[in-house]
Amino acid sequence: MPSSITDQSAASNGNVPSCLPVDNPGECFWQMAGHDLSNYRSTDKLPDHSDIVIIGAGYAGVATAYHLAQEHGELAGSITILEARSACSGATGRNGGHLRPDLYGHIPTFIDRAGAKAGAEIAEFEIAHVKAMKKFIEEENIDCDFTMARSFDVWCNKEAAKKAKAIYDYMVSEKFAHMDDVAFYTGDQVEGLCGVKGAVACASYTAGTIWPYKFIMHLIQKLVSSNKVNLQTNTPVLSIDADENGGYSIKSPRGQMHAKRVIHANNAYVSGLLPEYTKNIVPCKGICCRITVPDGVRAPLLNNSYIHRTDDNVLSYLIPRADGSIVVGGAAAKFKSFRDQWYDNVDDSVLIEAAKDYYSDYMQRTFNGWENTGASVQRIWSGVMGYSYDSNPHIGQVPARENQFILAGFNGHGMPVIWLASKEIAKMVAQGISFEETRMPSLFKTSQFRIDRAQKGREEDGDILGTGNFPATKQ
Ligand SMILES: Cc1cc2nc3c(=O)[nH]c(=O)nc-3n(C[C@H](O)[C@H](O)[C@H](O)COP(=O)(O)OP(=O)(O)OC[C@H]3O[C@@H](n4cnc5c(N)ncnc54)[C@H](O)[C@@H]3O)c2cc1C
Repeated sequence: MPSSITDQSAASNGNVPSCLPVDNPGECFWQMAGHDLSNYRSTDKLPDHSDIVIIGAGYAGVATAYHLAQEHGELAGSITILEARSACSGATGRNGGHLRPDLYGHIPTFIDRAGAKAGAEIAEFEIAHVKAMKKFIEEENIDCDFTMARSFDVWCNKEAAKKAKAIYDYMVSEKFAHMDDVAFYTGDQVEGLCGVKGAVACASYTAGTIWPYKFIMHLIQKLVSSNKVNLQTNTPVLSIDADENGGYSIKSPRGQMHAKRVIHANNAYVSGLLPEYTKNIVPCKGICCRITVPDGVRAPLLNNSYIHRTDDNVLSYLIPRADGSIVVGGAAAKFKSFRDQWYDNVDDSVLIEAAKDYYSDYMQRTFNGWENTGASVQRIWSGVMGYSYDSNPHIGQVPARENQFILAGFNGHGMPVIWLASKEIAKMVAQGISFEETRMPSLFKTSQFRIDRAQKGREEDGDILGTGNFPATKQ
């Protein structure tokens, strides 16, 4: 009896996709309590046919199923999700829980490449997520530790701080609507404002924190208990072939099924079934941990989330939790040069050697007042993200594959992108509208141009490993 995903795939005598999740992800704090539906299968056998098959039960797949079933009622009951491992066991179940719109990371790059409007569209789309998710979570009464608070972007390096301030000034001068919510601080008071040792600049704005696993499992519970969606966990999709009578034949080690339309929501692993995306969306590992203080110790309260950049430009994302613990991750600068440990690597059963000790005394090193708290890493894990060649997700109709759609490549930043993107792709699928008729930022559209640019381009010209020095954006 084959046990692993790869064994099962091989035993099925089919083409084994080049990119599948490993079958034994390492333990992760968010999933420690498990869930009754982790390994759920709505039916013992795969249905013979579904109008829509969604590949992947992470945030993108489940949110798309949710929008399709709830907002396009005629489709409820004819949607199947095929998931290679247990539900929400990929990046969504292993991330940092930070629902933070990005204003200082990539937006200025997008403005350089495609103009102020294209950059602002993305910033505003991301910002809209904080309110949209707050509203939805409150309406649905979802128990997922959601908070809406302020986030501090912190710079400890003077040069980097100067650049960030110039970007802030530029965005204000362009009258970007969302800058109303951003306050930027420089000068002597910065350390006192944000609490970070050696901080020379900081920006504060509205962001959220969330327990993503609980959020997604709530959606799954709702979908499967109402029979609106057929969920099949531990069912890796091995191939998708055009059926001679129309639609697609979808093969897994548990047999095959037919679908009229397919939605690829398997993020880092998308090139396993769509090889044209091999250089567009690359599986890249990241590391994250939970830090606690010993029983009886009260550490200083942090009531902001953070992006913290050290003097030597190591970036960490951090959220405080109501139980006093901290979830923090990042440290990519520490392992970037050890390419085999993170790049084109799907093994979330092992940590990243070059960064696994980085967070050991992180709180003591970083925050004033934490020196004697005894804070230590209680649990640490790795996860696999889908990094894209141009740092934008690929969303929309897959070029040259009729009735196949993609929603993948979130660059370690899906929390403020996926909820509304999945709502829009649900409209594309259900109503047959074009990408341009949706509310999605134009740079998110997947296109033959973007596919070719990465497939034919050099790694050293792309954003993942190189300079981002590729030809200007065109759809
Ligand atoms: C360590 C870490 C920290 C992060 N922190 C943050 C953060 O703080 N904020 C933020 O915004 N983002 C963060 N991210 C990124 C965020 O988690 C992702 O952008 C988001 O979860 C992507 O969701 P998804 O559904 O596209 O992918 P996933 O959650 O990875 O889901 C894809 C699913 O597809 C399944 N699958 C793959 N291949 C197949 C196949 N052939 N057949 C069937 N199923 C298949 C996988 O098993 C998986 O369950 C982090 C990611 C990591 C790894």
